[in-house]
Amino acid sequence: MTYDYKEIVPYLLHWFDYNARILAWRENPIPYYVWISEIMLQQTRVEAVKGYFDRFVTALPDIRSLAQADEEMLLKLWQGLGYYNRVRNLQKAARQIMEEYNGSMPADYELLKKLPGIGEYTAGAIASIAFGIPVPAVDGNVLRVMKRIAASFDDITKDSVRKELWKDIMEVMPQDRPGDFNQSLMELGATVCLPNGKPLCDQCPVMHLCRAHRQDITGLLPVKQEKKERKKLERTILRMEYENKIAIRKRPPRGLLAGLWELPGLECYYEASELSQLLTSWGIQEADVAFIGKAKHIFTHVEWHMTAYHIQLDKLPQLPKEEGDFLWVTGEEIEEKYSIPNAFKFFF
Ligand code: SF4
Repeated sequence: MTYDYKEIVPYLLHWFDYNARILAWRENPIPYYVWISEIMLQQTRVEAVKGYFDRFVTALPDIRSLAQADEEMLLKLWQGLGYYNRVRNLQKAARQIMEEYNGSMPADYELLKKLPGIGEYTAGAIASIAFGIPVPAVDGNVLRVMKRIAASFDDITKDSVRKELWKDIMEVMPQDRPGDFNQSLMELGATVCLPNGKPLCDQCPVMHLCRAHRQDITGLLPVKQEKKERKKLERTILRMEYENKIAIRKRPPRGLLAGLWELPGLECYYEASELSQLLTSWGIQEADVAFIGKAKHIFTHVEWHMTAYHIQLDKLPQLPKEEGDFLWVTGEEIEEKYSIPNAFKFFF
């Protein structure tokens, strides 16, 4: 049974007027701020994004400075947010905006979608919030809220379901407040219609119109197809130290954590006793090897199960070129300059 979402619009707008959280990018919704915040929010909660956002726009206050930023600085500003290709795409898009649009984001939904890293959802959010263009912004939060309101058992991981909902929202989009309407749905999903069967229905402005609530099936919705199991990879991590300096290595330019600095690692599990042969092949004859610990890091499609060793050296080795680009750096230099992905945090 289809649901006509028209009725929920005034209730959500009214609720949003009184309940919207005060956020820097909402207080001053210029296109650049909306864009940066939306990209950061794709992987992180609002509370955590606040600090990252402030730091980012203080260091890079506009599209021009983002376009010109040094890569190490950019990665450092993003350190801890993960998904580093997103910040690289931000810079690619900023450069394109400088070249093709004279430094101003295009006030056009279709043109926004053509910029690197800006998909249908982000384009909808920027277009509606920053430019007042009446287009939906459908993300996981919005899908959850709307499918509960309609008591729909559609699988929200399907593209066809997202597209259908986009059209349904477009039909009821208030022409005078598209940005507020989209944000009211996002906000309801983030603060009231919570995931994992825990919606706070008694605080919801559309409870009286919500079929899932009426039918007492909120815990069953939304329906999501099970994801494929992640691949598990065993890795051995080497924290090599010489005179208070640690060896870091640049990862390959493509693939997982592309181009970031890491603690050198091996793509399989090594016992401490098995390491001496490997170290000899790296030109290291004498070293004290000590077990640091084990840690797991979860990426979208893969899990790293890591075993780490501290290797204390009394001579600076000439590490083989084919093993990658190594740098010997102090803890302060890492802190200030090099962005080391969260996956390695445990070993510092
Ligand atoms: S009534 Fe409950 S389930 Fe329905 S939209 Fe509101 S919070 Fe979500």
